[in-house]
Formats: sequence, structure tokens, C-alpha cells
Amino acid sequence: MPVVGIPRALLFYHYYPLWRDFLAGLGCQVVESGPTTRRILQQGLAAAVDETCLPVKAFYGHVQALKDRVDYLFLPRLVSVQRRAYICPKLLGLPDMVRHSLTNLPPLLSPTIDVNRRGRGVWAAVAETAALLQASSCRAWSAFLRAWRRWRRWQELQRQGFFPLEAQELLEGKAGEEKRRAERRLRVGVLGHPYNIYDGYVNMGLLQRLEEMGVEVQTPEMLPPKTIACYARRLPKELFWTLGRSVLGAASHFFTDPGIDGIIHLISFGCGPDSLVGELVERRARRGQGFPFLLLTLDEHSGEAGLITRLEAFVDTLEWRRGR
Ligand code: SF4
Repeated sequence: MPVVGIPRALLFYHYYPLWRDFLAGLGCQVVESGPTTRRILQQGLAAAVDETCLPVKAFYGHVQALKDRVDYLFLPRLVSVQRRAYICPKLLGLPDMVRHSLTNLPPLLSPTIDVNRRGRGVWAAVAETAALLQASSCRAWSAFLRAWRRWRRWQELQRQGFFPLEAQELLEGKAGEEKRRAERRLRVGVLGHPYNIYDGYVNMGLLQRLEEMGVEVQTPEMLPPKTIACYARRLPKELFWTLGRSVLGAASHFFTDPGIDGIIHLISFGCGPDSLVGELVERRARRGQGFPFLLLTLDEHSGEAGLITRLEAFVDTLEWRRGR
């Protein structure tokens, strides 16, 4: 049984159950690299050039944590998953970047998904992966459809208020529904890429800290895709980055939701799409009487003490406004 590794970084937070169940359905044993740790991040930092964004550096570390334990690494090349929109350039070049930055890697399984090109859609990627693993197309289709259904259920659980890893535990029967978010004093929309929001090491435990301060967190993954798409289309010119669209659509929704007390936006230093989207969201927050807004830029030099101070000040402001 081939052992396939999936790094717990980047689009893991979008697609893990889909990839895991699909590969398991093809007869593979799937292992993932586990939570980001200091050691993983240090390894990633040592392998990446300085200009790379923190999430990609962390990804390199996760690849290194897996490479000696697996027969293959699953590292799909996602070019485009939405019509007339693209994933960020670093993600579409990720398999090449990994190949050229790290040594002694096992073979990479890197099917390409580009829904804007004929013959490069999801079905082609399924067939490509099956061929690489020498599985029949019939087995691949049925494994993929089963995995797809479970992935949709995972997304549905997130819309009910669960974070991705909690939803994963629910799917696997390791936790009960009682973990659903409790009622709290304040509600804050946390914007950003899923790998920044849900990687507790990269964001220095942001979600947990907010919950301890009595804040209920809403994230883009908790909104219906139609709501995000509808708000994203209201821009004078629609963004052609899928991840940026999702952040902007969710931001526009949070700004108009009377139940949201404030917004925290997590961006990565060195991320082109984030610098544009961050500026657009911040300008919108400053409009009129202003909307409580906190921009947090993540990089390897971010300090925990600074984060705690800014968070506490932000939450105090929200409580003051609520009391008023
Ligand atoms: S969207 Fe930004 S943070 Fe994400 S991989 Fe691309 S450059 Fe890095």
C-alpha cells in the first residue's frame, strides 16, 4: 500500500478531506504532517528565499517533516478552480518551487487543475492521479465521488460554526456536535486565507485568544458561497484571484451585518494579493463613521506580546462601543 503525505499547510485547510478520502479510496495510506511547530517553521525558513510569504515558508517545513516517511507527496498544481479567476501565482508554481528548493524528495503527485482550460478540469486531475498510482479509472471515479460528498458535508459543518479541524473530527466521529460555538458577548469577523486563520502557530493562537476574551468568531468559511459571491460581485471590477474574492466578499458581508462588532484581517507580509485586498478592506472600514477594524500582518518576526496588546485594546474598544 503506497504511503502518501499531505502537508498540513496552505490549501490543506480548503481540501484536506477531499484529498485524503480520494487517495484512501485509491488504496493509499494517507499521512499528514500535523500542526505547525517551531521546528517545522524553522526548517521552512531555512529552505525558502526571504521574499517568500510566511504560509509558503511554513509549507516547505511541512514537506520536510513528511518527506522521509512517505512514498509520495500529494502536491496538486492548482491554477484555477473558478471560471475567469486564478489562484495566486505562488500556489500555481508550488510543485516547481518545492522541487527546486528542497532535496531528497519522494516523487510528487502533482495533477494540474485549471478549469479555464479545456481538458484540465477536476476529472482530468482525477484520471491523472489514478494513472500515477496505477489505479483503474472506475475505482478513481467512485473514490472521488465518495470523497466529494464527504467534503461537501465538511463544508456544511463549517457553515454551522465549526472550524475546519473540528469539522474533521466530527466527520470522523471523534467529537460530538456539542462543540458548536457557544453564545458570547461580542462577534468579530476574522478575514484572511484559511491557512492564516486556522494555523494556530502561524497566527499565534488568535482564535483561541479571542474565544478566551469572550469573542465569537465568524470566518469566511462560515458564510454560504452564494453570499460571498454576491458581495464580491458588487465591486466595480471583480477580482480575478479566487482567494482575494472570498476575503472581499466576506468583508462586504461583515460590514453590513449588524451582528458583527468588528473585523480583524490577517494578511501575510510579502503577499501581493493580500496587499491589494488589505488596502481595499481598510479603506472601506474607514468610510463614514468608521468600522472597528484591526489589520494584523503575519511574518516570522511577528511577536506574541505585540499581538496580545493589540487584541486586548481592540476587544476593549468593541466592548466600550457595545456598552455605549
Ligand atoms: S495568496 Fe499570498 S499568502 Fe497565499 S500563497 Fe499566495 S502570496 Fe502566499
